Amino acid sequence: MSAATGEVVELLTTMIRNGCVNTGDVASGQEVRTADTLRAFLGDAVDTAVVDAAPGRRSVVARLRGSDPTAPSLGLVCHTDVVPATDADWTRDPFAGEVDQGIVWGRGAIDMLDTTATMAVAMRRAGFAARRGIRPRGDIVFVAAADEEGHADHGTRYLLDHHRDEVMADRIVTEGGGWPLTTGPVPALSWAVAEKGSAWLRLDVHGRAGHAAMPHGADNALVTAAEVVRRLAEHRVAPSIPAEWEAWVAAMGLDADLAAGLLDPATVLATAEATGDPALAAHAHACTHLTITPTGARGGVVINAIPDLVEIDVDARILPGQTCAQVEAEIARALGPLTDRVDVVWRHRLETTTSPVASPLRDTIAGIADALVPGTRLVPGMITASTDADYFRRAGAEVYGFSMHSGHATPEQFRRMFHGPDERVDLRSLELSTAMWTELISQS
Ligand SMILES: [Zn+2]
Repeated sequence: MSAATGEVVELLTTMIRNGCVNTGDVASGQEVRTADTLRAFLGDAVDTAVVDAAPGRRSVVARLRGSDPTAPSLGLVCHTDVVPATDADWTRDPFAGEVDQGIVWGRGAIDMLDTTATMAVAMRRAGFAARRGIRPRGDIVFVAAADEEGHADHGTRYLLDHHRDEVMADRIVTEGGGWPLTTGPVPALSWAVAEKGSAWLRLDVHGRAGHAAMPHGADNALVTAAEVVRRLAEHRVAPSIPAEWEAWVAAMGLDADLAAGLLDPATVLATAEATGDPALAAHAHACTHLTITPTGARGGVVINAIPDLVEIDVDARILPGQTCAQVEAEIARALGPLTDRVDVVWRHRLETTTSPVASPLRDTIAGIADALVPGTRLVPGMITASTDADYFRRAGAEVYGFSMHSGHATPEQFRRMFHGPDERVDLRSLELSTAMWTELISQS
Protein backbone atom coordinates (compact mmCIF):
# COMPACT_ATOMS: atom_id res chain seq x y z
CA MET A 1 0.00 0.00 0.00
CA SER A 2 1.42 3.40 -0.95
CA ALA A 3 1.65 6.18 1.64
CA ALA A 4 -1.18 8.04 -0.12
CA THR A 5 -3.45 4.99 -0.02
CA GLY A 6 -2.52 4.47 3.63
CA GLU A 7 -3.76 7.98 4.37
CA VAL A 8 -7.10 7.29 2.65
CA VAL A 9 -7.53 3.95 4.42
CA GLU A 10 -6.83 5.49 7.81
CA LEU A 11 -9.39 8.24 7.21
CA LEU A 12 -11.97 5.83 5.81
CA THR A 13 -11.66 3.29 8.62
CA THR A 14 -11.85 6.08 11.22
CA MET A 15 -15.09 7.30 9.65
CA ILE A 16 -16.50 3.74 9.51
CA ARG A 17 -15.68 3.33 13.22
CA ASN A 18 -17.28 6.69 14.00
CA GLY A 19 -20.52 4.99 12.94
CA CYS A 20 -22.61 8.09 12.18
CA VAL A 21 -25.77 6.05 11.73
CA ASN A 22 -28.74 8.05 10.52
CA THR A 23 -32.16 6.59 11.33
CA GLY A 24 -34.03 9.68 10.18
CA ASP A 25 -34.38 10.85 13.78
CA VAL A 26 -32.89 14.27 14.56
CA ALA A 27 -30.91 12.81 17.48
CA SER A 28 -29.30 10.12 15.28
CA GLY A 29 -26.35 10.53 12.90
CA GLN A 30 -24.25 12.65 15.25
CA GLU A 31 -21.99 13.42 12.32
CA VAL A 32 -20.06 15.79 14.61
CA ARG A 33 -17.60 12.91 15.15
CA THR A 34 -16.70 12.52 11.49
CA ALA A 35 -16.97 16.26 10.85
CA ASP A 36 -14.33 16.84 13.52
CA THR A 37 -12.18 14.06 12.06
CA LEU A 38 -12.33 15.82 8.68
CA ARG A 39 -11.78 19.28 10.12
CA ALA A 40 -8.66 18.06 11.91
CA PHE A 41 -7.48 16.35 8.72
CA LEU A 42 -8.04 19.33 6.40
CA GLY A 43 -7.63 22.29 8.70
CA ASP A 44 -3.86 22.65 8.43
CA ALA A 45 -4.01 22.68 4.62
CA VAL A 46 -7.11 24.69 3.66
CA ASP A 47 -9.70 27.05 5.17
CA THR A 48 -12.21 24.74 6.83
CA ALA A 49 -15.47 25.66 8.55
CA VAL A 50 -18.17 23.65 10.28
CA VAL A 51 -21.92 24.21 10.31
CA ASP A 52 -24.21 22.75 12.97
CA ALA A 53 -27.78 22.39 11.69
CA ALA A 54 -28.92 20.78 14.98
CA PRO A 55 -27.09 19.40 18.02
CA GLY A 56 -24.48 16.94 16.73
CA ARG A 57 -25.55 17.38 13.09
CA ARG A 58 -22.34 18.98 11.91
CA SER A 59 -21.22 19.46 8.29
CA VAL A 60 -17.80 20.53 7.02
CA VAL A 61 -17.08 23.06 4.28
CA ALA A 62 -13.60 23.78 2.94
CA ARG A 63 -12.94 26.28 0.19
CA LEU A 64 -9.79 26.81 -1.81
CA ARG A 65 -9.63 30.04 -3.81
CA GLY A 66 -8.67 29.64 -7.46
CA SER A 67 -6.34 31.94 -9.37
CA ASP A 68 -9.05 33.19 -11.76
CA PRO A 69 -12.29 34.51 -10.20
CA THR A 70 -14.08 34.16 -13.55
CA ALA A 71 -13.27 30.46 -13.92
CA PRO A 72 -16.06 27.99 -13.05
CA SER A 73 -15.91 26.61 -9.53
CA LEU A 74 -15.81 22.89 -8.78
CA GLY A 75 -17.62 21.26 -5.87
CA LEU A 76 -16.62 17.94 -4.34
CA VAL A 77 -19.74 17.02 -2.40
CA CYS A 78 -20.01 14.02 -0.11
CA HIS A 79 -21.83 12.90 3.01
CA THR A 80 -20.68 11.61 6.36
CA ASP A 81 -23.72 9.69 7.63
CA VAL A 82 -24.52 6.03 6.94
CA VAL A 83 -27.64 3.88 7.10
CA PRO A 84 -28.05 1.32 9.91
CA ALA A 85 -26.42 -2.11 9.59
CA THR A 86 -28.71 -4.42 11.51
CA ASP A 87 -28.84 -7.10 8.83
CA ALA A 88 -27.82 -10.49 10.21
CA ASP A 89 -26.17 -11.36 6.88
CA TRP A 90 -23.05 -9.31 7.67
CA THR A 91 -20.02 -11.60 7.91
CA ARG A 92 -17.85 -8.83 9.49
CA ASP A 93 -18.50 -6.25 12.17
CA PRO A 94 -19.94 -3.39 10.11
CA PHE A 95 -18.40 -0.75 12.36
CA ALA A 96 -14.94 -2.24 13.04
CA GLY A 97 -13.34 -0.77 9.89
CA GLU A 98 -11.47 -4.00 9.15
CA VAL A 99 -8.90 -4.10 6.38
CA ASP A 100 -8.23 -7.60 5.13
CA GLN A 101 -6.37 -8.68 1.98
CA GLY A 102 -6.77 -5.37 0.19
CA ILE A 103 -10.42 -4.87 1.11
CA VAL A 104 -11.90 -2.34 3.56
CA TRP A 105 -15.08 -3.66 5.17
CA GLY A 106 -17.83 -1.72 6.83
CA ARG A 107 -20.97 0.35 6.61
CA GLY A 108 -20.24 3.31 4.37
CA ALA A 109 -17.40 1.63 2.45
CA ILE A 110 -19.11 2.46 -0.86
CA ASP A 111 -21.94 4.76 0.32
CA MET A 112 -20.10 6.96 0.49
CA LEU A 113 -17.31 7.27 3.01
CA ASP A 114 -14.88 5.92 0.39
CA THR A 115 -15.56 8.98 -1.74
CA THR A 116 -15.59 11.27 1.29
CA ALA A 117 -12.13 10.00 2.23
CA THR A 118 -10.67 10.19 -1.27
CA MET A 119 -12.10 13.67 -1.87
CA ALA A 120 -10.73 14.88 1.49
CA VAL A 121 -7.25 13.54 0.70
CA ALA A 122 -7.28 15.26 -2.72
CA MET A 123 -8.52 18.50 -1.15
CA ARG A 124 -5.77 18.43 1.46
CA ARG A 125 -3.12 17.90 -1.21
CA ALA A 126 -4.58 20.81 -3.19
CA GLY A 127 -4.39 23.01 -0.08
CA PHE A 128 -0.70 22.24 0.40
CA ALA A 129 -0.02 22.75 -3.32
CA ALA A 130 -1.73 26.17 -3.15
CA ARG A 131 0.63 27.16 -0.37
CA ARG A 132 3.48 26.41 -2.72
CA GLY A 133 1.83 28.68 -5.31
CA ILE A 134 0.19 25.95 -7.41
CA ARG A 135 -3.48 26.83 -7.62
CA PRO A 136 -6.33 25.62 -9.82
CA ARG A 137 -7.98 28.35 -11.91
CA GLY A 138 -11.43 27.98 -10.38
CA ASP A 139 -12.44 27.76 -6.72
CA ILE A 140 -12.61 24.26 -5.26
CA VAL A 141 -15.26 23.59 -2.61
CA PHE A 142 -15.33 20.48 -0.46
CA VAL A 143 -18.63 19.83 1.31
CA ALA A 144 -19.02 16.87 3.67
CA ALA A 145 -22.68 17.05 4.60
CA ALA A 146 -24.59 15.44 7.44
CA ASP A 147 -28.03 13.88 6.99
CA GLU A 148 -27.95 12.74 3.38
CA GLU A 149 -29.56 9.44 4.35
CA GLY A 150 -32.42 11.31 6.03
CA HIS A 151 -34.14 14.21 4.32
CA ALA A 152 -31.06 16.49 4.30
CA ASP A 153 -32.89 18.87 6.66
CA HIS A 154 -29.81 18.77 8.92
CA GLY A 155 -27.35 18.67 6.05
CA THR A 156 -27.45 19.90 2.47
CA ARG A 157 -30.84 21.57 2.59
CA TYR A 158 -29.77 23.51 5.67
CA LEU A 159 -26.44 24.41 4.08
CA LEU A 160 -28.11 25.68 0.91
CA ASP A 161 -30.73 27.64 2.88
CA HIS A 162 -28.28 29.27 5.30
CA HIS A 163 -24.82 29.16 3.71
CA ARG A 164 -25.54 29.05 0.00
CA ASP A 165 -22.57 31.15 -1.10
CA GLU A 166 -20.10 29.07 0.87
CA VAL A 167 -21.27 25.68 -0.40
CA MET A 168 -22.40 26.36 -3.96
CA ALA A 169 -20.28 25.65 -7.03
CA ASP A 170 -20.93 25.84 -10.76
CA ARG A 171 -20.08 22.19 -11.35
CA ILE A 172 -20.31 19.48 -8.75
CA VAL A 173 -19.30 15.85 -8.47
CA THR A 174 -20.96 13.71 -5.84
CA GLU A 175 -22.09 10.11 -5.33
CA GLY A 176 -24.42 8.05 -7.49
CA GLY A 177 -21.98 7.12 -10.26
CA GLY A 178 -18.88 5.05 -10.77
CA TRP A 179 -20.78 1.79 -10.55
CA PRO A 180 -19.15 -0.97 -12.55
CA LEU A 181 -21.64 -1.84 -15.29
CA THR A 182 -19.73 -4.63 -16.98
CA THR A 183 -17.46 -7.45 -15.90
CA GLY A 184 -15.51 -7.49 -19.15
CA PRO A 185 -11.93 -6.33 -19.69
CA VAL A 186 -12.93 -2.79 -20.71
CA PRO A 187 -14.36 -1.00 -17.70
CA ALA A 188 -17.68 0.81 -18.07
CA LEU A 189 -18.58 3.02 -15.13
CA SER A 190 -21.86 4.83 -14.59
CA TRP A 191 -21.98 8.60 -14.86
CA ALA A 192 -25.09 9.89 -13.10
CA VAL A 193 -26.78 12.80 -14.86
CA ALA A 194 -30.24 12.58 -13.32
CA GLU A 195 -32.22 11.15 -10.44
CA LYS A 196 -35.76 9.93 -10.35
CA GLY A 197 -38.15 12.11 -8.41
CA SER A 198 -39.47 10.81 -5.13
CA ALA A 199 -43.08 10.88 -4.00
CA TRP A 200 -43.61 9.57 -0.49
CA LEU A 201 -47.12 9.30 0.80
CA ARG A 202 -49.31 7.57 3.31
CA LEU A 203 -52.58 5.89 2.48
CA ASP A 204 -55.02 6.07 5.37
CA VAL A 205 -57.43 3.17 5.02
CA HIS A 206 -60.68 3.60 6.91
CA GLY A 207 -63.11 1.08 8.38
CA ARG A 208 -65.43 0.90 11.39
CA ALA A 209 -64.31 -0.07 14.88
CA GLY A 210 -66.03 -3.04 16.48
CA HIS A 211 -65.64 -6.02 18.80
CA ALA A 212 -63.34 -8.66 17.33
CA ALA A 213 -65.54 -11.43 18.79
CA MET A 214 -68.33 -10.55 16.34
CA PRO A 215 -66.59 -10.06 12.98
CA HIS A 216 -69.55 -10.97 10.76
CA GLY A 217 -70.46 -8.00 8.57
CA ALA A 218 -67.65 -5.90 10.02
CA ASP A 219 -65.85 -3.17 8.07
CA ASN A 220 -62.30 -4.09 9.10
CA ALA A 221 -59.72 -1.49 7.97
CA LEU A 222 -56.93 -4.11 8.16
CA VAL A 223 -58.71 -6.43 5.73
CA THR A 224 -59.29 -3.53 3.34
CA ALA A 225 -55.64 -2.47 3.75
CA ALA A 226 -54.48 -5.96 2.79
CA GLU A 227 -56.43 -5.66 -0.46
CA VAL A 228 -54.99 -2.16 -1.03
CA VAL A 229 -51.44 -3.54 -0.69
CA ARG A 230 -52.22 -6.47 -2.96
CA ARG A 231 -53.63 -4.14 -5.63
CA LEU A 232 -50.60 -1.85 -5.41
CA ALA A 233 -48.22 -4.79 -5.73
CA GLU A 234 -50.03 -6.19 -8.76
CA HIS A 235 -50.59 -2.88 -10.53
CA ARG A 236 -48.68 -2.56 -13.79
CA VAL A 237 -47.69 0.98 -14.76
CA ALA A 238 -47.13 1.53 -18.47
CA PRO A 239 -43.41 1.88 -19.29
CA SER A 240 -41.93 4.95 -20.92
CA ILE A 241 -38.47 5.57 -22.37
CA PRO A 242 -36.82 8.74 -21.01
CA ALA A 243 -33.86 10.31 -22.84
CA GLU A 244 -31.55 9.28 -19.96
CA TRP A 245 -32.42 5.62 -20.57
CA GLU A 246 -31.76 6.02 -24.29
CA ALA A 247 -28.35 7.56 -23.49
CA TRP A 248 -27.53 4.68 -21.14
CA VAL A 249 -28.46 1.99 -23.65
CA ALA A 250 -26.54 3.77 -26.42
CA ALA A 251 -23.39 4.13 -24.30
CA MET A 252 -23.40 0.53 -23.04
CA GLY A 253 -22.35 -0.73 -26.47
CA LEU A 254 -24.89 -3.58 -26.42
CA ASP A 255 -25.73 -6.00 -29.18
CA ALA A 256 -28.13 -4.26 -31.63
CA ASP A 257 -31.12 -6.56 -30.98
CA LEU A 258 -30.75 -6.23 -27.24
CA ALA A 259 -30.50 -2.43 -27.49
CA ALA A 260 -33.57 -2.26 -29.73
CA GLY A 261 -35.55 -4.40 -27.29
CA LEU A 262 -34.54 -2.20 -24.38
CA LEU A 263 -35.62 0.98 -26.18
CA ASP A 264 -39.12 -0.18 -27.08
CA PRO A 265 -41.63 0.38 -24.27
CA ALA A 266 -43.53 -2.71 -25.38
CA THR A 267 -40.51 -5.00 -24.94
CA VAL A 268 -38.14 -3.33 -22.49
CA LEU A 269 -39.02 -5.39 -19.44
CA ALA A 270 -39.25 -8.77 -21.17
CA THR A 271 -35.96 -8.07 -22.96
CA ALA A 272 -34.17 -7.14 -19.73
CA GLU A 273 -35.57 -10.19 -17.92
CA ALA A 274 -34.58 -12.50 -20.78
CA THR A 275 -30.91 -11.59 -20.28
CA GLY A 276 -30.97 -13.49 -16.97
CA ASP A 277 -29.13 -10.58 -15.33
CA PRO A 278 -31.11 -9.48 -12.27
CA ALA A 279 -29.19 -6.20 -11.90
CA LEU A 280 -29.99 -5.26 -15.48
CA ALA A 281 -33.64 -6.23 -15.10
CA ALA A 282 -34.05 -4.19 -11.91
CA HIS A 283 -32.24 -1.21 -13.43
CA ALA A 284 -34.17 -1.34 -16.71
CA HIS A 285 -37.46 -1.58 -14.86
CA ALA A 286 -36.69 1.35 -12.54
CA CYS A 287 -35.39 3.54 -15.40
CA THR A 288 -38.51 3.07 -17.52
CA HIS A 289 -41.30 2.96 -14.97
CA LEU A 290 -43.02 5.09 -12.43
CA THR A 291 -42.79 2.75 -9.43
CA ILE A 292 -45.13 2.48 -6.46
CA THR A 293 -43.81 0.43 -3.54
CA PRO A 294 -45.68 -0.20 -0.27
CA THR A 295 -43.04 -0.06 2.47
CA GLY A 296 -44.86 -0.11 5.80
CA ALA A 297 -48.17 -0.47 7.60
CA ARG A 298 -49.46 0.50 11.00
CA GLY A 299 -52.86 -0.17 12.47
CA GLY A 300 -54.88 -1.71 15.23
CA VAL A 301 -55.15 -0.68 18.84
CA VAL A 302 -55.73 -3.86 20.85
CA ILE A 303 -55.94 -7.50 19.88
CA ASN A 304 -59.68 -7.79 20.56
CA ALA A 305 -60.87 -4.76 18.56
CA ILE A 306 -61.54 -4.44 14.84
CA PRO A 307 -59.45 -1.47 13.67
CA ASP A 308 -61.06 1.56 12.06
CA LEU A 309 -57.77 2.89 10.63
CA VAL A 310 -54.68 1.39 9.01
CA GLU A 311 -51.90 3.56 7.59
CA ILE A 312 -49.84 2.28 4.65
CA ASP A 313 -46.53 3.93 3.71
CA VAL A 314 -45.82 4.17 0.01
CA ASP A 315 -42.56 5.10 -1.72
CA ALA A 316 -43.17 6.12 -5.33
CA ARG A 317 -40.49 7.22 -7.81
CA ILE A 318 -41.14 9.18 -10.97
CA LEU A 319 -39.25 9.58 -14.24
CA PRO A 320 -38.08 12.82 -15.86
CA GLY A 321 -41.14 14.62 -17.23
CA GLN A 322 -43.56 12.85 -14.90
CA THR A 323 -45.34 14.61 -12.06
CA CYS A 324 -46.37 13.67 -8.55
CA ALA A 325 -49.99 14.10 -9.70
CA GLN A 326 -49.41 11.05 -11.92
CA VAL A 327 -48.59 9.03 -8.82
CA GLU A 328 -52.02 9.79 -7.37
CA ALA A 329 -53.66 8.92 -10.68
CA GLU A 330 -51.82 5.56 -10.85
CA ILE A 331 -52.76 4.77 -7.26
CA ALA A 332 -56.41 5.51 -8.02
CA ARG A 333 -56.19 3.22 -11.07
CA ALA A 334 -54.63 0.48 -8.94
CA LEU A 335 -57.19 0.76 -6.17
CA GLY A 336 -60.27 1.00 -8.39
CA PRO A 337 -63.38 0.80 -6.23
CA LEU A 338 -61.28 1.02 -3.05
CA THR A 339 -60.13 4.56 -3.90
CA ASP A 340 -63.00 6.02 -1.87
CA ARG A 341 -61.90 4.06 1.20
CA VAL A 342 -58.48 5.68 1.26
CA ASP A 343 -57.15 9.18 2.04
CA VAL A 344 -53.84 10.17 0.44
CA VAL A 345 -51.55 12.06 2.82
CA TRP A 346 -48.42 13.48 1.15
CA ARG A 347 -45.20 13.23 3.14
CA HIS A 348 -42.58 14.41 0.67
CA ARG A 349 -42.51 15.15 -3.04
CA LEU A 350 -39.68 16.15 -5.31
CA GLU A 351 -39.84 15.92 -9.05
CA THR A 352 -36.88 14.74 -11.13
CA THR A 353 -33.72 16.79 -11.58
CA THR A 354 -31.33 16.42 -14.50
CA SER A 355 -28.02 17.84 -15.76
CA PRO A 356 -26.96 17.83 -19.43
CA VAL A 357 -25.54 14.54 -20.72
CA ALA A 358 -22.81 16.47 -22.59
CA SER A 359 -20.71 18.78 -20.41
CA PRO A 360 -17.12 20.04 -20.07
CA LEU A 361 -16.89 18.38 -16.64
CA ARG A 362 -17.82 15.03 -18.15
CA ASP A 363 -15.17 15.43 -20.84
CA THR A 364 -12.48 16.29 -18.29
CA ILE A 365 -13.37 13.37 -16.05
CA ALA A 366 -13.63 10.95 -18.98
CA GLY A 367 -10.14 11.99 -20.08
CA ILE A 368 -8.68 11.45 -16.61
CA ALA A 369 -10.46 8.10 -16.22
CA ASP A 370 -9.09 6.91 -19.54
CA ALA A 371 -5.57 7.98 -18.54
CA LEU A 372 -5.87 6.11 -15.23
CA VAL A 373 -7.41 2.96 -16.70
CA PRO A 374 -7.13 2.90 -20.49
CA GLY A 375 -10.40 2.12 -22.21
CA THR A 376 -12.65 3.23 -19.33
CA ARG A 377 -16.03 4.36 -20.61
CA LEU A 378 -18.42 6.65 -18.77
CA VAL A 379 -21.99 5.57 -19.29
CA PRO A 380 -24.47 8.40 -18.71
CA GLY A 381 -27.68 7.50 -16.96
CA MET A 382 -30.23 8.15 -14.33
CA ILE A 383 -30.03 6.89 -10.79
CA THR A 384 -33.20 5.58 -9.33
CA ALA A 385 -32.59 6.64 -5.72
CA SER A 386 -32.09 10.24 -4.60
CA THR A 387 -29.00 11.98 -3.27
CA ASP A 388 -27.89 15.49 -2.34
CA ALA A 389 -27.30 16.09 -6.08
CA ASP A 390 -30.97 16.86 -6.28
CA TYR A 391 -30.80 19.91 -3.96
CA PHE A 392 -27.68 21.30 -5.63
CA ARG A 393 -29.32 20.96 -9.07
CA ARG A 394 -32.37 22.83 -7.81
CA ALA A 395 -30.01 25.54 -6.53
CA GLY A 396 -28.60 25.92 -10.06
CA ALA A 397 -25.47 23.76 -10.20
CA GLU A 398 -24.61 21.16 -12.85
CA VAL A 399 -24.24 18.01 -10.78
CA TYR A 400 -22.95 14.59 -11.70
CA GLY A 401 -22.39 11.37 -9.79
CA PHE A 402 -19.07 9.60 -10.21
CA SER A 403 -16.15 7.86 -8.53
CA MET A 404 -13.61 5.36 -9.82
CA HIS A 405 -14.19 1.71 -9.05
CA SER A 406 -12.06 -1.24 -10.00
CA GLY A 407 -13.67 -4.53 -10.89
CA HIS A 408 -13.66 -5.61 -7.22
CA ALA A 409 -17.34 -6.47 -7.34
CA THR A 410 -19.68 -7.51 -10.14
CA PRO A 411 -22.54 -5.12 -10.98
CA GLU A 412 -24.95 -7.34 -9.04
CA GLN A 413 -22.65 -7.60 -5.98
CA PHE A 414 -22.20 -3.86 -6.10
CA ARG A 415 -25.96 -3.24 -6.18
CA ARG A 416 -26.55 -5.54 -3.21
CA MET A 417 -23.91 -3.82 -1.09
CA PHE A 418 -25.76 -0.48 -1.15
CA HIS A 419 -27.59 -0.25 2.15
CA GLY A 420 -27.04 -4.04 2.29
CA PRO A 421 -24.73 -6.47 4.08
CA ASP A 422 -20.95 -6.84 3.64
CA GLU A 423 -20.40 -3.37 2.22
CA ARG A 424 -16.74 -3.18 1.16
CA VAL A 425 -14.29 -1.50 -1.17
CA ASP A 426 -10.86 -2.48 -2.45
CA LEU A 427 -7.70 -0.42 -2.08
CA ARG A 428 -7.36 -0.14 -5.86
CA SER A 429 -10.67 1.75 -6.08
CA LEU A 430 -9.55 4.11 -3.30
CA GLU A 431 -6.27 4.72 -5.09
CA LEU A 432 -8.04 5.39 -8.41
CA SER A 433 -10.59 7.80 -6.93
CA THR A 434 -7.89 9.72 -5.06
CA ALA A 435 -5.94 10.07 -8.29
CA MET A 436 -9.12 11.12 -10.10
CA TRP A 437 -9.99 13.98 -7.70
CA THR A 438 -6.37 15.11 -7.45
CA GLU A 439 -6.06 15.37 -11.23
CA LEU A 440 -9.55 16.91 -11.58
CA ILE A 441 -8.61 19.71 -9.15
CA SER A 442 -5.38 20.38 -10.99
CA GLN A 443 -7.26 20.62 -14.33
CA SER A 444 -9.97 22.90 -12.90
ZN1 LIG B 1 -24.95 7.98 -0.22
